[in-house]
Amino acid sequence: MSVHHDSHEGILRSALEENGLRYTEQRSAVFEHLANTKSHPTADEVLLAVRPALPGISLATVYKSLETLVGCGLVNKLTYSDGSSRYDGCTDPHHHARCGRCGRVVDVPGSLPEDQVEGLRLGASDFVVTGYRLELTGYCQPCLTAERV
Ligand SMILES: [Zn+2]
Ligand SMILES: [Zn+2]
Repeated sequence: MSVHHDSHEGILRSALEENGLRYTEQRSAVFEHLANTKSHPTADEVLLAVRPALPGISLATVYKSLETLVGCGLVNKLTYSDGSSRYDGCTDPHHHARCGRCGRVVDVPGSLPEDQVEGLRLGASDFVVTGYRLELTGYCQPCLTAERV
């Protein structure tokens, strides 16, 4: 079987190998789903998406696979103050807008200029900055429409 060098499977295999982890069909199915969706799903939503292909998979296995992928840097985890988490298969720099009513998360292209990030970093005294997260808050169009009727 030939594998494209830049296929999702190839990316997953080399990242797992680098981290001394085994390639499993569960990890593969979870990563494949995240790499192909822009919906920033929760673990429950990932479970629903991969279960048709892997009927025996449990939510615990989905969670473990997600954490493995996050640990390998293949997936970003978005945590929220209400304790919920969403997962993002796109690790290129971008921002998010989150609906305050339904919790939907959509991508907002772009990244802050280096000097602005540096300015913010300087303001965070006695703090080692490893990154930043910019989230736009508001309401998505379906929720605004629902509110009006
Ligand atoms: Zn909404
Ligand atoms: Zn995203």
